[in-house]
Amino acid sequence: MNEIKVAVLGSEGVGKSALIVRFLTRRFIGEYASSSECIYRKRLSVDGKPINLQLYDPCSQAYEGRSTVNEQIQWAHGFIVVYDISDRSSFLTAKAIVHLIRELGLGTGKRNVDSLIFLVGNKQDLCHMREVRREEAQCLAAECRCQFYELSAAEHHQEVALIFFKMVQNANVG
Ligand code: GDP
Repeated sequence: MNEIKVAVLGSEGVGKSALIVRFLTRRFIGEYASSSECIYRKRLSVDGKPINLQLYDPCSQAYEGRSTVNEQIQWAHGFIVVYDISDRSSFLTAKAIVHLIRELGLGTGKRNVDSLIFLVGNKQDLCHMREVRREEAQCLAAECRCQFYELSAAEHHQEVALIFFKMVQNANVG
């Protein structure tokens, strides 16, 4: 059975756990209390093939720059880099992570890395508090050749599920 490993990265509080829990349980859990990093496992069928999916969630661990991303690059096939559309600093962190993945990922020999980095703007339901314009994120995605999505873990189940399935599909072909 194919094993696909996906790391969900980004600043603390952007909704990484909320997105993963939404995908796994179809529910939005407002306060998800977990203080240490964890790996979730799920069996899926994609294009008729069984897949063992592993999702890495750093939980409340802060983004610690190059060394943590480097560790994840060694481990993961794909990356979902999340920011909060109502928090500009989280976008700057996501930008730094995407740049690092591109820079450090080049040497890993991973195939088709372009399809394996997703930039995700979460908390779209908070658009009245928006600090990151959609166009700005689209520009970053184009510059770094990654796919861009904007959504809400609180409100959009189908969109969240689609992102995870798409990532698995891309990594499976990878
Ligand atoms: P993490 O540290 O990146 O894993 O973030 P969490 O998943 O723990 O979420 C941090 C906070 O943001 C929690 O209070 C969540 O309820 C909230 N949150 C997560 N996703 C959304 C969303 O799509 N919309 C809104 N309004 N809040 C969200």
